[in-house]
Amino acid sequence: MAFPLTVDSEWRSRYSAAVGRISRQLATIRPGQPVRLAKKPATCLGSLPDPDARSGRQSIQSCFEVDPINRVAEVGGMTTYEDLVAATLPYGLMPMCVPQLRTITLGGAVTGLGIESASFRNGTPHESVVAMDILTGTGEVLTVTNKSDDPHRDLFYAFPNSYGSLGYALKLTIELEPTKPFVHVQHVRYASASALTQSMQEIVASGEFQGSRVDFLDGTVFSASEQYLTIGTMVGELPAGRATSDYTGMAIYYRSIQTLTNDYLTIGDYLWRWDTDWFWCSRAFGAQLPAVRTLWPKSKLRSDVYWKFIAANRKFKFAEKLAAIQRKPQRESVVQDIEIPVERLPEFLDFSTRK
Ligand SMILES: Cc1cc2nc3c(=O)[nH]c(=O)nc-3n(C[C@H](O)[C@H](O)[C@H](O)COP(=O)(O)OP(=O)(O)OC[C@H]3O[C@@H](n4cnc5c(N)ncnc54)[C@H](O)[C@@H]3O)c2cc1C
Repeated sequence: MAFPLTVDSEWRSRYSAAVGRISRQLATIRPGQPVRLAKKPATCLGSLPDPDARSGRQSIQSCFEVDPINRVAEVGGMTTYEDLVAATLPYGLMPMCVPQLRTITLGGAVTGLGIESASFRNGTPHESVVAMDILTGTGEVLTVTNKSDDPHRDLFYAFPNSYGSLGYALKLTIELEPTKPFVHVQHVRYASASALTQSMQEIVASGEFQGSRVDFLDGTVFSASEQYLTIGTMVGELPAGRATSDYTGMAIYYRSIQTLTNDYLTIGDYLWRWDTDWFWCSRAFGAQLPAVRTLWPKSKLRSDVYWKFIAANRKFKFAEKLAAIQRKPQRESVVQDIEIPVERLPEFLDFSTRK
């Protein structure tokens, strides 16, 4: 087998042609005219005006190369984690941090930050970036690294959390880590936030739970007295007689947390366990009602499909119109990620679950 493994053998020429097109297009933008990435589906909606730009977009939407020996991948900035994981898993590798939603892009997660259940070991997406090609406002494309002799090292460090304001990542080289085919998942229930937090701190410090290695860790709170840590360990084989669960059809992952203490998923299904029902938000669209779910195509149980509903609602104002007819106050939906120092987690959870 030849290394590195090229996913798209023509990618270098395609990529440099795309970079040229994107730089030329940037040069045509008038002062004051807004610049946006033509990302689809997009959290930040926008489209570039001509077909030339579309082909540039296409060329930065792939995982270009996977090098299993050095465990790195060269990836277009607008590549979704879904495509990236699909390219790396066949080699028994995955990105160090895979956000839960399939259509988050690598560039978006690095510049806008992200976090996932391996983050207690591997950090957030930008912490496993080795190098980036960044299109700056002047139209230059700079390759930036953290090397001490890199004249653009400051841009490498300033890029995370800059939300595209310092430039667009066109290509990133990222580290990968080895996977195993399955994940043994344990849902451990706690009766209080302080008990959950203490256990979480112990797992993070030791990397173990009851003497076994922990690869993944996340938590779900249903009420003050029903809180869970979900502990994931990659395994090479299933125990005799065990099958993997499938939460991409009728079964709903977050409900399994309350009903199962032990579970097994394929590594791919583990990574996208929250996407199928967009955590629990698919409920708002009726997708968790058995009668509706039976009819709902399995391939459309995905967070980006629910996003389209939200976008349509924003455009056509269905909810606003319904509220007006019902003489109810207008409501604004807010999705807010928060970060809390672990020492203050019990205080926050007690506050959040107070009735
Ligand atoms: C509903 C919701 C759920 C979320 N769930 C998770 C989750 O499960 N796990 C997690 O880790 N994070 C989650 N996030 C946070 C998410 O990772 C960040 O918001 C991330 O920035 C989104 O990336 P995106 O590719 O969707 O980019 P967008 O949302 O399209 O863009 C985000 C910002 O990044 C900029 N940007 C996008 N691509 C590039 C690029 N190539 N170069 C430079 N700038 C760029 C955009 O201009 C914009 O300012 C969630 C966010 C939301 C709104």
